Amino acid sequence: MTAGGEVFWDGCAVGEFRLLRCDGCGQVDHMGPSRCRRCHGAELTWIAAEGGGTVASFTIVRRAPSAGLREWVPYGLALIDLDEGTRVMARLAGEPEDWRIGGRVRLCFIAAGEAPGDFAGDRLPAFAPETGEAACGS
Ligand SMILES: [Zn+2]
Repeated sequence: MTAGGEVFWDGCAVGEFRLLRCDGCGQVDHMGPSRCRRCHGAELTWIAAEGGGTVASFTIVRRAPSAGLREWVPYGLALIDLDEGTRVMARLAGEPEDWRIGGRVRLCFIAAGEAPGDFAGDRLPAFAPETGEAACGS
């Protein structure tokens, strides 16, 4: 796992969804880039997302893509357009009937239980509909 991944998961452990912001142009990105995708600047700073976003697309995963995820299905997986201007893939929380494309969601963290795949912590970031209540129950 990259150093960027470690910073990201360390953020989750303290309740932050960390993003990289370019010092030069302000472009915000999620993990990964060692340089700004817009201006190619190399000075990037970690920031914590405010937590608001909009669902760009989502699917309900019913067949586990790996053995480690078998006990998680079914679960919602979404592309979220964060208010900071970058798109991330994350789990949906709350009730499936509240999940809407174009719907507003808010960051929360769910207990990971048995960690699947390369997941590196015990708190998994998720996004729950702002309208739903008791968003991050499980
Ligand atoms: Zn930039």
